[in-house]
Amino acid sequence: MYFNSDTLVYLDGKFVKASDASCSVYAQTLHYGYSVFEGIRSYKTPNGTQIFKAKEHYERLHFSCQTVGLPLNYSVEELTELTYQVLERNNLQDAYIRPLVYAGTPNMSLTAAQESNLLIAAWEWGKYLGDRTLRVMVSPYERPNPKSVPVEAKVSGHYVNSTIACSDAKAKGYDEALLLDMNGFVAEGPGANFFYEKDGELFTAPPGSILCGITRNTIIDLAREAGITVHEKFFKPDVLQEADAAFMTGTAAEVVGVQSINERLFPKPYEESIGAFLGKRYSELVTGKLVLA
Ligand code: PMP
Repeated sequence: MYFNSDTLVYLDGKFVKASDASCSVYAQTLHYGYSVFEGIRSYKTPNGTQIFKAKEHYERLHFSCQTVGLPLNYSVEELTELTYQVLERNNLQDAYIRPLVYAGTPNMSLTAAQESNLLIAAWEWGKYLGDRTLRVMVSPYERPNPKSVPVEAKVSGHYVNSTIACSDAKAKGYDEALLLDMNGFVAEGPGANFFYEKDGELFTAPPGSILCGITRNTIIDLAREAGITVHEKFFKPDVLQEADAAFMTGTAAEVVGVQSINERLFPKPYEESIGAFLGKRYSELVTGKLVLA
């Protein structure tokens, strides 16, 4: 699914077959989750294949590297150009792109890496959480305390928290988890941000314990452009009992409706909700059919 015998990836200065790319089993990253990554999408548009918000994603990759002390010797422009080459060499248009900066050198110390490796892979990937509205449960797992780890950096190790929360929700018969922060406020999903709708306005968690998604920010822009008020404020899960509708956002998931939280169905049909409206606007934006001033 991710690659076949023809797939090429960019790895440390060369385009190599994905099946030939390898990494030391003594790599610092493999043992400690010490690497950072991005999730980006490209879309077929009237102006050819376009990577959506490449600058924002590669600036965040730089921020993540700086935050954990991983060197990254490529500029945002170089990373963008290399990514277009990965797409072209693999004949991809609508694609999911995964850059990974990792410490591949054998090293068992707990000190910042002196050198890093860069992988850029891409593959065709449908909406990560599917197209149907989701049955979500409030997770018993909290998002990491921002005083323990830099939650605004996209660090591989953080995704252990995401993986156990998501697996736990699925094992209990739900589609996805919703995680609270250390103070009991709603934070986000394992790989997506969360919004709810009440009386024609949107609410979402503020920065602090969340990865402030690029999709989240795009949705806030699209909402405000359409005259919809968006509140970035802390809220407890009990307010969701009174909410009209909800949705999640992320590069992989795009915009996906939430049908229920802990079995409580939202009263507004998703197709009539602000989430569905903004989801359509988002699709038009990424495919170049909508151009914002
Ligand atoms: N939160 C988490 C924990 C994520 O992994 C993601 C996916 N990167 C998001 C939010 C959404 O971020 P973005 O919209 O930038 O993809």
